Amino acid sequence: MSTPTRRGCGTMPVHHRLMAESPAYASARVEIENQAFAYETGAAATARVGPTRIPVVVHVVFHTAAQNIDDDQITGQIDVLNKDYRAQNADVGQVPPVWKPLVADSRIEFELATTDPDGQPTDGITRTETAKTKFNIFTDEVKSASTGGHDAWPADKYLNIWVCPRIFDPNDPSEILGYAQFPGGDPETDGVVIGHKFFGTSGTATAPFNLGRTATHEVGHWLNLFHIWGDDDGGCSGSDLVADTPNAGGPNFGTPTFPSLTCNNGPDGDMFVNYMDYTDDKGMFMFTKGQSDRMAATLDSFRSSFDGG
Ligand SMILES: [Zn+2]
Repeated sequence: MSTPTRRGCGTMPVHHRLMAESPAYASARVEIENQAFAYETGAAATARVGPTRIPVVVHVVFHTAAQNIDDDQITGQIDVLNKDYRAQNADVGQVPPVWKPLVADSRIEFELATTDPDGQPTDGITRTETAKTKFNIFTDEVKSASTGGHDAWPADKYLNIWVCPRIFDPNDPSEILGYAQFPGGDPETDGVVIGHKFFGTSGTATAPFNLGRTATHEVGHWLNLFHIWGDDDGGCSGSDLVADTPNAGGPNFGTPTFPSLTCNNGPDGDMFVNYMDYTDDKGMFMFTKGQSDRMAATLDSFRSSFDGG
């Protein structure tokens, strides 16, 4: 199988399916967005001083021996998450000067779980051999032992990350790098899923998606961030509901050159260096303050079970 040349994320199709099929999800989404709106407009603010620490369990689901990624590939990914969410990534200096004042420390940290759901010591990693060679974003088979995956750990205590052979959307011929479930959904399927070739910085991680940014992007969705262009299929009317990210037409791919203009958003153009665009791993370096506020709103609403430090 060849490696995709463009980023592809399955989060929005999953969101649209859940909105259509689950009244409970749709109503939870309204509550979560009300809180996010209050934080985004300054009507309310978080009391969290942080950092908020998120215990992570990585469920490695493999079909071949190579897909049973080693511990270094996993700990390397956790390191990337910690740097990116604290704005301590080595490449943050590449943010164009006009956006440097917007770079945010999200005050969120991640650690492999040390206690499992039964209270026993754990390294925060599960390993499951599967007969399946690929996993459908709509049926979430990777998230259940009965369908060739591994059951979620309680989603109010852990961020579940499944790492699996190959992810596909039956309506899209290209390989999907990863997908997340936005806050508000069923705890049994809450978390993010990432193809092993796009996870971590070593082992089976493959360029141009070998710097751990797929997980940074998908965890952003798990904390309720939308794509930077507003998910309107290239139009200029969609919004990511964050005021300090420029209005943009559609996704940027590869490593664009500043400025990249769409939607009359000159002179600075699209914020393609943002983790919530579709650029290559080496082309994304920042969250904004508005995005950080939105994530804090999530940690104060649907994900309030995670301690605020
Ligand atoms: Zn995405």
